Amino acid sequence: MRTERYDIIIIGSGAGGGTIAWGLAESAARILVLERGGAIPQEAQNWDPEAVWKHLRYRVDERWLDRRGREFQPYTHYCVGGNTKFWGSVLYRLRRADFEAVEHADGVSPAWPIDYDTLDPTEAPRRPYPYDPVPHEPVMAGIVADLRALGLRPSPLPLGLLRPGEAGGCILCNTCNSFPCQVRAKSDAEVCCVEPAAGRSNVTLWTHALARRLLTDPSGRTVEAVEVTHQGETVRVEAPLVVVSCGAVNSAALLLRSATDRHPDGLANSSGLVGRRYMAHLATMMQGFHPFRRNQTVFQKTVALNDFYLHGPGGGYPLGQIQSQGRTHGVMAQTVAPWIPRWAYDAWVARGVDWLAISEDLPDDDNRVLVDRDGRIRLHYRPNNLAAHRRLVVEMKRILRRLGFWVVMAHSHRDRNTTHQCGTLVFGTDPRASVLDPYCRTHDVENLFVVDASFFPSSAAVNPGLTIVAQALRVADHIRQTHLD
Ligand SMILES: Cc1cc2nc3c(=O)[nH]c(=O)nc-3n(C[C@H](O)[C@H](O)[C@H](O)COP(=O)(O)OP(=O)(O)OC[C@H]3O[C@@H](n4cnc5c(N)ncnc54)[C@H](O)[C@@H]3O)c2cc1C
Ligand code: SF4
Repeated sequence: MRTERYDIIIIGSGAGGGTIAWGLAESAARILVLERGGAIPQEAQNWDPEAVWKHLRYRVDERWLDRRGREFQPYTHYCVGGNTKFWGSVLYRLRRADFEAVEHADGVSPAWPIDYDTLDPTEAPRRPYPYDPVPHEPVMAGIVADLRALGLRPSPLPLGLLRPGEAGGCILCNTCNSFPCQVRAKSDAEVCCVEPAAGRSNVTLWTHALARRLLTDPSGRTVEAVEVTHQGETVRVEAPLVVVSCGAVNSAALLLRSATDRHPDGLANSSGLVGRRYMAHLATMMQGFHPFRRNQTVFQKTVALNDFYLHGPGGGYPLGQIQSQGRTHGVMAQTVAPWIPRWAYDAWVARGVDWLAISEDLPDDDNRVLVDRDGRIRLHYRPNNLAAHRRLVVEMKRILRRLGFWVVMAHSHRDRNTTHQCGTLVFGTDPRASVLDPYCRTHDVENLFVVDASFFPSSAAVNPGLTIVAQALRVADHIRQTHLD
């Protein structure tokens, strides 16, 4: 087997891995980024709903098992930039309360080992914001006014679009969320981080490079090397520092697959928590339909309702957040009920306004990633906090009917929604109750960090991306100070 040596190995090039590669690139360290997928080509299919939603052109083709042992195709992507290539670029911060223990309908959302100010170290909130919000198109502006008239407080969605409306920038199209950006104007990890990092002479990117196992020294306290299948060849890559960032499910799976006689339950697993506390959000897509109102909106993802984030209407437990969604295309809607003809869906979605309701699910030791003897991933996940989510959906239906929509449709991928996966290697101060320390270093293995969504001790009820990025930058600073300077 061929052996290679670097100073730092980063496994995965998504939100966490891409960001930390960028954060460390200016050091003198020789960095190798391993990415199991390839780069998404710029091609017409990027924005073709049929290619993306019917033929699943960019989706992983592997199958995982659910808690009943049934196969499913996870909604996730292996490519340079990871899932950020497909994200809707909604970049929310968590709220202050999300870092604290919060009582929910189904139990307590635990406190984080860091607080809001740790990830937002500026002295005061920055105002005015450096960029204006993306303006609402006329239909959405009308809805925002109507929501205000109901006494609600809609706010603009924070979006990571590059130079919207400017030459060479984002054209505010109707194929953003779930599509790769054909003009590369999305703030994805490839465009913002991996490419700039890989342009430096000390950073090397291997694509089609699958990390199979982490190999430790005899004590089990140090990772010595990563076993990699790179374009068909098995390679042993050694480094004094390894950063895992394969996404919450695959990072846990990698540690479990790295079991040896010395640590038979998986690497860094003295707490027994590797793979446990998987969370994914409770998410329901909703659509308000009016037969005589054509919705001319192109870029629809501009507004959010946070009125029920901390309490339901009239008090009570937190319910979550509602965002307007990208436009649904007929072929996307057809995936729910394929026997209905496309023309009917096209006519329907042309008159619909799309929303996404997100609620927090709570950490539960029994919700976990497991790896079968043949290495296959089994996702044992039973969603909780469902009553809160149902209340949020009911409330939004009521609101949409008051806005004049005749019918409100709702659809959820339920326990197979893996887009906001997190929590499988929680961080904390107590090695008995967490896998990672507050800087995302494993308690058990001194030279092993994990900087993807695995570290989340709770899922909050906003999109996770910006928090993954913020923590990856913080860990990069920490590594530079403690290992490189
Ligand atoms: C359709 C969609 C829309 C979304 N919209 C939003 C949004 O608007 N806002 C938001 O904040 N979040 C959004 N998300 C979620 C967001 O994309 C993820 O939370 C985020 O990308 C997770 O970052 P990560 O670093 O944990 O993992 P990923 O970004 O998934 O990166 C993991 C990387 O590791 C690679 N990898 C895995 N295993 C291995 C291995 N063994 N060896 C080598 N490489 C490996 C993968 O190929 C991948 O590139 C969306 C997700 C999807 C799918
Ligand atoms: S052009 Fe803008 S709206 Fe369209 S996919 Fe790219 S970033 Fe998204």
